[in-house]
Amino acid sequence: MRPGPVVTRIAPSPTGDPHIGTVFMALFNLAFARRHGGRFILRIEDTDQGRSTRESEEAIFAALTWAGIPWDEGPDKGGPHGPYRQSERLPIYEEHVARLVQAGRAYPCFCNAARLKSLREEQLARKEDPRYDGHCRHLDPALAATRIAAGEAHVIRLSVPDEGECVVPDRLRGEIRIAWSTVDHQILRKTDGFPTYHLANVVDDRLMGVTHVIRGEEWISSLPKHVLLYEGFGWELPEFIHMPLLRNPDKSKLSKRKNPTSVTWYREAGYLPEAVVNYLGMMGYTLPDGREMFTLEEFIASFDIDRVVLGGPVFDLAKLNWLNGRYLRESLSPAQILERLHAWRLNDELLLKALPLAQKRLTTLADFMPMAGFLLRGALDYPTAELAGSDGACTARWLRIALWELEQLRPFTAATVRGVFEGMVEKEGVALRELLAPFFLAVTGAKVSLPLFDSCELLGADVTRRRLHEGLERLAAMGHELKGKTLKALEEDYRRRYTENR
Ligand code: GLU
Repeated sequence: MRPGPVVTRIAPSPTGDPHIGTVFMALFNLAFARRHGGRFILRIEDTDQGRSTRESEEAIFAALTWAGIPWDEGPDKGGPHGPYRQSERLPIYEEHVARLVQAGRAYPCFCNAARLKSLREEQLARKEDPRYDGHCRHLDPALAATRIAAGEAHVIRLSVPDEGECVVPDRLRGEIRIAWSTVDHQILRKTDGFPTYHLANVVDDRLMGVTHVIRGEEWISSLPKHVLLYEGFGWELPEFIHMPLLRNPDKSKLSKRKNPTSVTWYREAGYLPEAVVNYLGMMGYTLPDGREMFTLEEFIASFDIDRVVLGGPVFDLAKLNWLNGRYLRESLSPAQILERLHAWRLNDELLLKALPLAQKRLTTLADFMPMAGFLLRGALDYPTAELAGSDGACTARWLRIALWELEQLRPFTAATVRGVFEGMVEKEGVALRELLAPFFLAVTGAKVSLPLFDSCELLGADVTRRRLHEGLERLAAMGHELKGKTLKALEEDYRRRYTENR
């Protein structure tokens, strides 16, 4: 190991829902840092301004807090190497890009979109991997400086060798070798002055003193670019540890099509954080004594990164259910479960939101639970034939379109959900009542229930979307599966009709 204190980090991008993989990485980074008496940093990589949101950043904090994973430095906590949000570090990147250009390790590129497009098409036609051809690499620096001074749009690209290969040690994988010819001349600084992930990530890892980069294997292909950056700055490499990716039971990369990936869903669906963290600790890893149930502290106390095995660990909801059940049965008292129920959804806050919706329909108090019980349920039980209605294929299409719409809906409120369905009424040429019938069933489990849009808000985006997903799975089991060409055609049709003029 390198001398000096161990520093690890996670560097999530605040886009979309907080991903279960972020908690997985956080767990292993935290354990490694703690085990070696070091520090664990949370850095927010929000250089993609178009996609990054504060809401998503907050959701990352909330997800890690729920999971009980603490960080030592971060945007909310501060620390000696702040700011910890990349959008607040632009002058640092600017200065570092200039250093690379000065050293001849990076160069300004003036190629316009049209040239890049035709280059790409030519390369694809020749069955080559698209890669920048170095056209601007050898421009006279004085001439380039004049063009920049004249305000010409440009990016800064990394200068990549044409031949040979990049060889980098990875603690779990040994030497990783990647031919330079397959590595693109990465854009380091975009026309708008923002750095790209690669530059900001390497500069920050260095300036924040990160000694061990523990991250998912999907970043291996970026490694040669990072190595060039470290070399360009004259910095020693950190130790790289590329963890295996979490997989769906069919071994494909964990994806929300096949498995819930949002941490918020796990919370809202009634999983215990300690069970989720315990389960993540079993992904590619076994404790030295083979124990299956362990606390975070126990995991950390015996943690040994060299025990990680690389075969893609399967994140299987059925196994998580088994473990979660064991926690409920074996490690919590009834009084503790009651506390968990309160903290989860069975509380005045939720009931007070549901009651005004139910009030008009109450004859006795006993009417309330049958009406509102769906807010506290996991899987719903209703006849799938009723969901399908007279045209199951059409219902499947509606569910699929609504899911696409709801996946990007921010904020997720009764009013915005209503907007989605009203939009569908217009685009699908159907009456609202007819359109909503299957949704009532899929979301609440009953034909008549609390008002649908409010119910969606109360359930939250994750649970609502999951229920629509389950509806789709039920329809698929009845023979109305949307897949392959049909799904592709539907998606194209959806993009054209719904999203093009947004
Ligand atoms: N921003 C990257 C992500 O979203 C960080 C990858 C890394 O750890 O280097 O995961």
